[in-house]
Amino acid sequence: MKNTVPDTTLSSENTQTPPMFNSIDAKSCVGATCQMLSGLGSEIRKMFLLGLQKKAQAPDDLLIDLSLGNPDLEPPQEVLLALETLARDRSPGMHRYMDNSGFFAARKYVSETLSAEWSLPLLPEQVFMTAGAAGALQIIMRTLLDPSDEVLVFAPYFSEYAPYTANFGAQFRVCPTGVNHLPSREQIREHLSAQTKLVILNSPNNPSGVSWPQETYTIFFEELMRLRQKTSRIIHVLSDEPYSKLLFEPSSVESLFKQYDATWVVRSHSKDLGLAGDRIGYFVWSPALHNQDLLGSLRNSARALGQVNASAFFQRLLPLVGHAQVDVAEYQRRVSLFTDLFKQHGVPCAQPSGGFFLFPQSPKPDETVFVSKLLEKGVLVVAGRGFGKPGFVRLSLTRPQVELAQAAHIFCEVFTSLNP
Ligand code: PLP
Repeated sequence: MKNTVPDTTLSSENTQTPPMFNSIDAKSCVGATCQMLSGLGSEIRKMFLLGLQKKAQAPDDLLIDLSLGNPDLEPPQEVLLALETLARDRSPGMHRYMDNSGFFAARKYVSETLSAEWSLPLLPEQVFMTAGAAGALQIIMRTLLDPSDEVLVFAPYFSEYAPYTANFGAQFRVCPTGVNHLPSREQIREHLSAQTKLVILNSPNNPSGVSWPQETYTIFFEELMRLRQKTSRIIHVLSDEPYSKLLFEPSSVESLFKQYDATWVVRSHSKDLGLAGDRIGYFVWSPALHNQDLLGSLRNSARALGQVNASAFFQRLLPLVGHAQVDVAEYQRRVSLFTDLFKQHGVPCAQPSGGFFLFPQSPKPDETVFVSKLLEKGVLVVAGRGFGKPGFVRLSLTRPQVELAQAAHIFCEVFTSLNP
């Protein structure tokens, strides 16, 4: 009998039971919480599976998959060379466990780099090395959250925030935004509550590519302080920034540590060094939060989650090549390829300030109609409802330019045909 758990992997794996065993019904093994979690944020996986299905049914038909956010630019040459050098290093201890927070040299490198970027002093002890941004989010959330707490995010949001929040039994709350994907003061005020413990910001944003301007941060922090005066509760802010080094123009936003005291910044090198599969990232916390007890709690959270430590090999790589980056101009060219055509065809789309995603408006309020029509014509995109914002679709521009040029034309044709 075939395994009944849906295949959620990115490749088609063999899920047949080996012949010498009787199959156990997988539903009887998988806990209810896991089943609930697998239903959260599953829109991307749904599209991916639809794509596989279409490919299996009609292998010769056109299929351009813009559903997965798997960055396709290879790591810069100097990163590959440094990897070779490190692999040849036979010094004792290269591959051992270390402090849960990471090697001192990696933490020092990160603290010095961010001190220079933000023009403020930061200690290596305020840095925690992690398995990507995802690992960092988990450790911070494990440390801060109790089941009665609320986590606030802004639509559209990175869909994994929902299952991450559910991992810790906390409540997930979504603040709507305007067509530019920025919240107003009223929207922020209405969605902060006496239960809010953590607000997750993500700029540049996945799925829209939009960055918050300084004015939006100012309004947001004013509202947090207003609530603090009323309730005396500290609301933590987690700025999730895996696209911060894929900006098309330099940012003019003031360091968040200078603007608000209970701030955490999460970064990773999945996208800017093209190392998504190698899982290297980190987080830092503001000087106001720093003390030994907090560091101890963070270490305990990493242990309790079984994360133990970030990859030793990639922590060693970071001080050697952390300054490098993939060719951001290539992502910018891909974005322009679409946005130029969008302008000609009247497709409304907020201008991304970085990254490789676009989040244009659907010609129909029910964007799943548009998604199905696009799939019929061979272009796979993800419905905006998967990111908490129906009426839009997400495009991941992680395919070669020729495919993208073809997809952009098909997209605009289908848009025009459905636009009343
Ligand atoms: N946060 C956002 C907004 C993302 O888009 C992603 C990945 O797509 C992550 C976190 C996870 O990144 P990482 O691969 O560094 O864990």
